[in-house]
Amino acid sequence: MLMKAWFLTKINNIENNPLELKKVKLRSLNDDEVLIKLKEIGICKIDLNLIEGDAVNFGYPSKKPIIPGHEAIGSVEDIGNKVEEFKKGDLVGISMLYSSCGKCKECLSGNESACKELLITGESIDGCYAEYFIGKSNFIFKIPQEISEKAILTVCNLPLVYKSFKLSLRNLEDKIAIYGLNFFSFLIIQICKFFNVDNEMIVLNEKEERKLNNILKEVNIKKISAINKNYYDGLILFRADDNFYKLVKSVKFKGRIINVTLKSLATSPLLEGKEIISPGIPTKSEIFEIQRSGLLNKITFNKIFYDFENIIKALSDLKMNNEIAKLILKIK
Ligand SMILES: [Zn+2]
Ligand SMILES: [Zn+2]
Repeated sequence: MLMKAWFLTKINNIENNPLELKKVKLRSLNDDEVLIKLKEIGICKIDLNLIEGDAVNFGYPSKKPIIPGHEAIGSVEDIGNKVEEFKKGDLVGISMLYSSCGKCKECLSGNESACKELLITGESIDGCYAEYFIGKSNFIFKIPQEISEKAILTVCNLPLVYKSFKLSLRNLEDKIAIYGLNFFSFLIIQICKFFNVDNEMIVLNEKEERKLNNILKEVNIKKISAINKNYYDGLILFRADDNFYKLVKSVKFKGRIINVTLKSLATSPLLEGKEIISPGIPTKSEIFEIQRSGLLNKITFNKIFYDFENIIKALSDLKMNNEIAKLILKIK
């Protein structure tokens, strides 16, 4: 069987059309694999980083050409001989976790995203920018029917942001700052509201402030020019730029800075004991937790659909940050 897939052959800015649509033959399944017909493919900031070369220093993509994409929802089309937990027609989700060794200390303690042999979907192995995906059955997520509408959030964005939120706090009385207006910060403001955590969104200018007011009411907004020193217990960064040094000053001694960008941020004695933490890739249990949590119920967001062929437009829109919504490739 043939399928259409988008390949990244050469790292380049999205404006230069770095992806190529090709028809490729689907290989046959191994015993532990599941063939999934994709329905919704999430367009994610992490994809854009990969395509434009921001992940090169981390060694990604670790193969070329590669089919990018690490978040998708689809239905099971076929299963390998030893797969028992899925059947044809099941609604399932795909995440960044493609596979891990299953034997090391990290894997055995449920922290498989720290496994040395971790393979990341769409980064180290072909991903979801395709009509079909073949995954390992123990890294495929069954999607309960009642969450199908919001399922695309549960495989990447929401567990990642929720993890960042938890890391930023020592207790629920802490006050946190959020920097970088995008879909991730849109989610985290809602998470703060759900847990009743005091938060402020730091914006650069009036334009960002207006945008924020349009999409979310009742947000505490602070301009970057007006932030206080030693004020926040935690800071979550969705954008890393020159304001970093100003932002660091706003964090209390021993406060936490969560870096959800791919930029490496300098740690130095000048950080005054403030800790920079990377959230890492959500684990299986963190994804399950989100699927079952009451939080998912409360999160509201818009989806913007693009035809599969229109991927460059979707990625460009994400880059321009024009829409604070979940951008999705839809396969008919
Ligand atoms: Zn993602
Ligand atoms: Zn392992």
